[in-house]
Amino acid sequence: MEFKQINDHGYYFEGAVNIGYVHHGDEGLLIDAGIDKSSIRKVLRTLEERGLPITHLFITHAHSDHYGGAHVVQKEKKVHVIAPKFEKAILENPMLEPLYLFGGNDPLPELRNKFLEGKPIVVEETIDEGKYCFNSFEMECYILPGHSYYQAGLVIDNILYAGDAYFSVEQLQKHKIPFITDAHATIKSLKRLTQIDALGGVPGHGIFEIDFQETVQKNMEYHVMLLEEMHCYITSKKTVTHEELVHYFCSHFQVNTTQLSQFLLFRTAVTAYAIGLIKEKKITQKIENYRWTFCSN
Ligand SMILES: [Zn+2]
Repeated sequence: MEFKQINDHGYYFEGAVNIGYVHHGDEGLLIDAGIDKSSIRKVLRTLEERGLPITHLFITHAHSDHYGGAHVVQKEKKVHVIAPKFEKAILENPMLEPLYLFGGNDPLPELRNKFLEGKPIVVEETIDEGKYCFNSFEMECYILPGHSYYQAGLVIDNILYAGDAYFSVEQLQKHKIPFITDAHATIKSLKRLTQIDALGGVPGHGIFEIDFQETVQKNMEYHVMLLEEMHCYITSKKTVTHEELVHYFCSHFQVNTTQLSQFLLFRTAVTAYAIGLIKEKKITQKIENYRWTFCSN
């Protein structure tokens, strides 16, 4: 993980999952904490070597690749832990993620892995949309749902730390069906990002860009492309069961997996586009012949 300086106060650790850092004198704010012990240890070591403090930890959303290392920070450093409401509930009870992905059924043992479930942390302060001040850190928090129910992005010292509200174009192409929970909310959040005035943006996966708006725009186009693909398919079939839709989308975009945990992530993402089409009134849903079914309007 490379430690990169953005401006006088803003930095980030560039890796598979980025970790933000803001430095104000004897205070330091970490934004997200990586997936596990080993990744966060490297971050803590780099900061220690440079004499940079950690006093605050902000978690953008309760996905284990963003908070899996947080319990180490909380154990080893005296930090004030901040997270959005709802996400807090999962951060303190991480089994909720495999539980919700499994549709509320008790998760099978293979679902309780580090990609779906990190170690719990205690969140001392919850945030919502608005301006906040934690000691010397003044920030504007934005609730940006669509990828996670109550994900937050923040602007601090003119830099946007966006969590997973947008992805790099490479990430979109790599994942093919990006993990989202509601395509309509995702696009709405992306539109909000276009109105945010900042000197640059750091996504959860990707690199810092001054012109992050261009990437945000490409994210919108990508989700619209997937929505149109799904809409065309449902229109051509008139009625499609949920299972057929998941099968069609995963095979069309070639996201084959044999793992239940990965399959559930794709199933949630495919369903997110169906939810988007329902909210845009382009399709409807009903239970027909014992099956959850989508129909073109
Ligand atoms: Zn995420």
